[in-house]
Amino acid sequence: MATDKEFLGQPDTLEEKQSAYEMALQQFDEAAEVLGLKQGTAEYMRSPQRELIVHFPVRMDSGEVRMFTGYRVQHNLARGPAKGGIRYHPRVSLDEVNALAMWMTWKCAVTDIPYGGAKGGVTFDPKQVSWSELERLTRRYASEISVLIGPEEDIPAPDVNTNPQVMAWIMDTYSMHQGYSVPGVVTGKPVEIGGSLGRLDATGRGCMIVAAKEMARRGKSLEGATVAVQGLGNVGYHAARLLKAQGCRIVAVTDSSGGCYSDPGVAQALDIEKLRGWKAQGMPLIEFAGVDSITNEELLAMPCDILVLAALEGQITPKNAASVRAGTIIEGANGPITPGADAMLEDMGVQVMPDILANAGGVVTSYFEWIQGLQHYFWERQEVEQRLEKVMSTSFEQVVKMAQEKKTTMRKAALLLGISKVVKAIELRGIYP
Ligand code: NAD
Repeated sequence: MATDKEFLGQPDTLEEKQSAYEMALQQFDEAAEVLGLKQGTAEYMRSPQRELIVHFPVRMDSGEVRMFTGYRVQHNLARGPAKGGIRYHPRVSLDEVNALAMWMTWKCAVTDIPYGGAKGGVTFDPKQVSWSELERLTRRYASEISVLIGPEEDIPAPDVNTNPQVMAWIMDTYSMHQGYSVPGVVTGKPVEIGGSLGRLDATGRGCMIVAAKEMARRGKSLEGATVAVQGLGNVGYHAARLLKAQGCRIVAVTDSSGGCYSDPGVAQALDIEKLRGWKAQGMPLIEFAGVDSITNEELLAMPCDILVLAALEGQITPKNAASVRAGTIIEGANGPITPGADAMLEDMGVQVMPDILANAGGVVTSYFEWIQGLQHYFWERQEVEQRLEKVMSTSFEQVVKMAQEKKTTMRKAALLLGISKVVKAIELRGIYP
């Protein structure tokens, strides 16, 4: 059986098989040293507070019963209730969920939203189950993790291969247990049952805002900038769409099959809506006709102004970092660049906008959804988008300020900022009892 470590990223691009959690711990340890954290505090912050593993049966359409394994991890609750997405993927492991939960803690702190970090997932391939099997699996998983989740305790949201429909099933299952509707138990719900306008594209919008702020900082504009996007899912599609609306030219996109490329010198820019429509029919991007096809490795090495990474962890490692030719990288995904590759990109002068800042638009708008739900009063889309812009801009400026003060990268600055806010919360609350 494969180990946790072997599940991460593309097996041939692993950095000495460094797992996602090892990456997260390395990033934390480096920041803790700069902050001079006491050993006990550092140990506390390194450790997930709660790790739940559930093994549960699902009745398949054939009548057979199949066992599945799922996880819910709450990393740190010093700043508020736990918050984080749920992932359905064959590579989901406790190691990966631990890493994603830790990154959620820092992300909520960087953006100053009053949550701790959490994450969950189930290890399976959603492409291999039917719609009704997916619903039964989701409901049973929700039931199993209901010992941890709740509107004041731990609030899941969508992540890879989960969407508003999956959130609706989780909300309904939890509500059935309580005997009344509890919309606040999840965010990223459909608008018709208490979701927020603007939540669906919020992570991609946050990526676009950070890209615009970074280009402006360098005296450049998004107008005419060339963009390559890895992963045309929720984050990648909306980032591409919104960057295009700002005047960017989308030159390449991929999914797990590979993807397509349009030479900026000779051909039309890619039509993102047509590509999205193609994917919605279940077709791999590599088979899209009428444009040149590329592999994921080629996309990562594409000359472009902005590379948006919106797929999975461990995509740029010391093995392929030297071939990167993008000026700026936006981490729409969590953990797509390993620490070893990060150091190489820094030496190469590539500007990396780190995950805990760049993809925070989703959790910030989830927070808005949670607030609207608690007040039973819903905002117009424009208000949601304006508030998101404000939070993303303020967070970006704070990270830039920290980077200038400490003469360091945006990633290290974001980690220093996020971790120091969690330390402050721990100091103020004290250690119980
Ligand atoms: P999604 O399931 O909607 O889309 C994922 C996309 O990545 C799919 O198009 C898939 O084909 C593609 N993909 C998978 N493996 C790939 C590979 N090896 N190479 C290229 N493409 C590949 O998921 P999503 O919600 O868009 O999440 C993508 C990333 O963004 C994840 O790292 C997730 O944790 C992060 N993220 C998501 C949100 C959110 O609101 N959904 C918020 C913050 C961060």
